[in-house]
Order: sequence, then C-alpha cells, then structure tokens
Amino acid sequence: MRIDIITLFPEMCDTVLNESVIGRARKKGIMEIVCHQLRDFAFDKHKRVDDSTYGGGMGMLMMAEPIALCFEDICAQLGKKPHFIYLSPKGKTLDQKKVRELAGYDNLCLLCGHYEGVDQRVLDMYVDEEISIGDYVLTGGELPALVLTDSVCRMIPGVLSDDLCFEEESHYNGLLEYPQYTKPAEWRGIAVPEVLLSGHHANIEKWRRASSVSETARLRPDMLDTAELSDKEKEQLKKGTGYN
Ligand code: SAM
Repeated sequence: MRIDIITLFPEMCDTVLNESVIGRARKKGIMEIVCHQLRDFAFDKHKRVDDSTYGGGMGMLMMAEPIALCFEDICAQLGKKPHFIYLSPKGKTLDQKKVRELAGYDNLCLLCGHYEGVDQRVLDMYVDEEISIGDYVLTGGELPALVLTDSVCRMIPGVLSDDLCFEEESHYNGLLEYPQYTKPAEWRGIAVPEVLLSGHHANIEKWRRASSVSETARLRPDMLDTAELSDKEKEQLKKGTGYN
C-alpha cells in the first residue's frame, strides 16, 4: 500500500512515521509513505500557498492551485487517481470501521490543511471524502493525517508482528478489549485473575469475552447498542448481573 501526504510540514510527518512499527514497515517496504512539500507547487517566488478569504474575515486560506498541481503530480507518478482524503474538522469522525475500509485501498492521498482551511473549489474538484479525528479544532491536518496513517498501516498484513492480534483489540468487533496483565502474578498485593494462570484455554476465552462485554458496559455503554451479543449476554446485561 502507498500513502501520499500533502503537507506544509513533511519533516514533521516523516519524523513520526520513521519510528517504531510504521518506521519498520517502511524500511521493509511493506508500506510506502511519501510526504510532499506543498510549497514545491507554489507558483510565486515567495512560495506562498495561502491568501486572504473572499468576503472578509480573519485568517488566511490555502489556495486551490498548488494543491491541485501537487495532487495531479501524484496521480501522474502513480498512473492513477488515489482515494483522496481531506483531513477536516467538518468531516465524518474516524472510527475502526472506516479504518478497515481505508486499509482496503492500494493508494490513499491525504491533504493536511492549515490556517482557516482550504479553498472549497479544489475540495469539490478532487477530494473523495473529508475525515475528522474528533469534534475539536487543531492548528493543522498533520496530526490527524498521522493518526489516520498509523491506524490504517497496522491493518496491513506484515506490519504487525502477529497479523491477527488487532482482531482482539478494542473496537475491532464493536467491543472494548478485556483487561490484560503481565508479570508478576501478584503486584503490591493485587493478584492477576486466577483463570488467566490456569492454562485452561476455553475458560480463558470465556473470561475474556465476558470481561470485554463488562468493560464496554462500564466505559462505553453506547457501543452495546450495535455490538453483536449473544442472547445470554443480552439477558445478563438487562438484569445487570455480571456485566455492570
Ligand atoms: N476553519 C476550519 C473550520 O472551522 O472547520 C478549521 C481550520 S483548522 C484551524 C486548520 C486545519 O487543521 C484544517 O484545514 C484541517 O486540515 C486540520 N484539522 C483541524 N482540526 C481537525 C480535526 N478535528 N480533524 C481533522 N483535521 C483537522
């Protein structure tokens, strides 16, 4: 998979994306991530990419033409149009379902806005969707682009050491993950749940599933409306036994 990022701060993106799991995936060639300096596509000698907004108001807006030129250059490099996403607080909020969907593309292109945002015309012409990382406003689209890139990359086969480990994680199956423990078995007088030391895989699986449901009921009860639960689990939730 290849992800192209259009940004005013390519070094900031590369610094993060060269570290840890994603950095290793890039080195191994599992992920190709290319950060493009938008100013390289500016057309005046000052390399300006922003201007004042029509209609008045404070702040500057990113101009359409440098973005269009940069995107068209990426399309020419790829020989096709990648799925083009503008990171924006106006977009649909990113969730695990969307992450899985995006991981199915061979090519993504991410546009990081700045200042007051981006001239609407280039968004209308080229952008396939707008994605937000939450209902708050950041100074730029780089952090959202990094969040999206990280979450998508870890779904790509070979990026994580165990390809299936994300299937047990929070949100993958509509529930939160069960609590986890490591050595020592007793820490400051608090013992690890005994079943986890039993070596009895079926009982451990049962405990993990029940804990996953109870953790979701405790921390994110809203998720239970859409989670896939057995009749027994629904009954237990209704009674408030075992899950609250
Ligand atoms: N004036 C814009 C508005 O009210 O919708 C906000 C612009 S914001 C200061 C600058 C840039 O940061 C945006 O163009 C966008 O790329 C990025 N950004 C800010 N908050 C974001 C969020 N919650 N999710 C995704 N991108 C965000």
